[in-house]
Amino acid sequence: MDALTPDQVEELRKELVALRRELARDLDSSLEGTRPVELDAPIGRLSRMDALQQQSMAQATRQAAAMRTKLAETALRRMETDEYGLCLECEDGIGYARLKARPEALLCVSCQETRESR
Ligand SMILES: [Zn+2]
Repeated sequence: MDALTPDQVEELRKELVALRRELARDLDSSLEGTRPVELDAPIGRLSRMDALQQQSMAQATRQAAAMRTKLAETALRRMETDEYGLCLECEDGIGYARLKARPEALLCVSCQETRESR
């Protein structure tokens, strides 16, 4: 796998910064949905279930956004030490195409697959 050019790293850095900003906004706007459902509130059984379902969806969205934020921050830190784009496990290049799709990726495709199948 070819090493990333400085231009590519710079481009991906901008995407990571934008991604982090976008995720922070998602985290902000989803905060509303994770407030505890008031079980005493005079709402029907159906809408209470809706509310609970929406709440758990909002929590899942928040968890995913928080996890991606951590990955993006790790990726940005690795740029400072010139380790960005190298797989955390096998130290092979992750590849520009994959990073373009997921700039926060820390593992190459094969290590990612191994990890997910464990
Ligand atoms: Zn790897």
